[in-house]
Amino acid sequence: MDRNALATAYGLLIAGTRRAASSGGMIPVLDPSTEMVLAEVPDATIEDAAAAVEAAAKAAPAWAATPSRRRSEILRRCFELMTARAEELAVLIAQENGKALRDARGEVAYAAEFFRWNAEEAVRIKGDFAIAPSGANRIIIDHQPIGICVLITPWNFPAAMATRKIGPALAAGCTVILKPATETPLTAYALAALYEEAGVPPGVVNVLTTRKPGPLVAAMLADPRVRKLSFTGSTEIGRTLLAEAAKHVTSCSMELGGNAPVIVFDDADLDTAIEGVMVAKMRNAGQACTAANRIYVQSGIYDAFAARLTGRMLALAVGPGTAPETECGPMISAAAVGKIERLVQDATARGAKLLCGGARPAGKGFYYPPTVLADVPPTAEMIHEEIFGPVAALCRFESEDEAIARANDTEYGLSAYIFTRDVARGLRVARQIESGMIALNRGLVSDPAAPFGGVKQSGLGREGGTDGIYEFLETKYIAAAL
Ligand code: NAD
Repeated sequence: MDRNALATAYGLLIAGTRRAASSGGMIPVLDPSTEMVLAEVPDATIEDAAAAVEAAAKAAPAWAATPSRRRSEILRRCFELMTARAEELAVLIAQENGKALRDARGEVAYAAEFFRWNAEEAVRIKGDFAIAPSGANRIIIDHQPIGICVLITPWNFPAAMATRKIGPALAAGCTVILKPATETPLTAYALAALYEEAGVPPGVVNVLTTRKPGPLVAAMLADPRVRKLSFTGSTEIGRTLLAEAAKHVTSCSMELGGNAPVIVFDDADLDTAIEGVMVAKMRNAGQACTAANRIYVQSGIYDAFAARLTGRMLALAVGPGTAPETECGPMISAAAVGKIERLVQDATARGAKLLCGGARPAGKGFYYPPTVLADVPPTAEMIHEEIFGPVAALCRFESEDEAIARANDTEYGLSAYIFTRDVARGLRVARQIESGMIALNRGLVSDPAAPFGGVKQSGLGREGGTDGIYEFLETKYIAAAL
């Protein structure tokens, strides 16, 4: 594509127009399977960010005043357009993110659902009315759009993390500025074209890419019209942004990192457990915040589980995300591969046994093979850090109490997985695990109709379900002498 065509397809989206960065700077976007440049996107400046806030502020009154039925119909149209273009979007995600096409197709379907779900939520925003106990007045509770929202998303789900924020924000009547991850901006820009076509007015959704997210986001948060920061990404950056937002007392929703434990009890159905762990571990080649990071298996089933899992991991087809047969694509970057390598070397140095994988291949592309490690000791760094790659860390346990204590021995609390045929035990353990989401006898928790989010240092707030839209609404109480 020549530079002009690129500027049209991937220009900054501000007030409904595509533009180059005011500095003229560009950011290359790499194909992680070849390390070649796929495209370039503008490197926005603080002036561009100020223009985006201005555009969002200008569009805000009319969008907030748009009847919720109309907002709902526009969101429904976004769902329909996304579904109609699912294959094209899946290929783009597979190219820039590297995930296997089948994962990319799953992501597009999941991402589109946030528009359908929020089209339904837009017309169900509830208020309340009560009689004050004193009898002196009535209590009226109203919900109003919170204001301009800055949305920041990671590279691992370039479509879904954006729609999980844009869907409820628009349903609530807010205008937004989206800053997608620098590694995967093309999907965000492709989706922006679709919002325009669905009837989202200019300025309601603005999209900026930058190499300097810190100063840019700080400048946007310093504008008093910006009242919401919704961030998905690492706990480390989340902490920095919470400190920045504290300066202006900006409302924050934080979807941060995870360190998901899996607990497989002796009485689990082995087929169900293996199937579930393969999904929990290998969706996106292990690059998910919900990815199974520590797999605790009870001693009676441990050897059979380890052998079956190793067989399944060895059989996975590794290759570029866009190849139809690929089941495990490359990692996002050389740094990501380096981190996985470091964690595997640390675990084996501390006594973990390598059952398969463990050595990065030669050649181009950020590949790391599906790997299984047995008897990973509690001191290994991968027990405390997100692996974010195709490495299954197996640990043996004896009792229910031990499994719960080890699962909770982390600063994170996003998701956890339990496999047992005893449903009473499953629910008992689920109540004691310190995490926002639990999967019982399955490997997937994400659902637009359910509240997604973490406890402890995995985040603040919930996305999806009936809670999601309220993250973008402010409660107003009117004491009325009626
Ligand atoms: P990251 O924290 O490095 O980056 C996330 C986003 O923040 C990107 O858009 C990045 O450009 C931006 N950013 C980086 N520094 C910034 C700064 N100083 N100020 C403002 N913005 C800044 O995370 P990542 O590597 O893109 O994504 C992987 C992480 O995201 C993992 O920790 C994963 O667990 C987490 N994640 C969480 C969820 C969830 O729902 N809880 C979902 C997906 C990913």
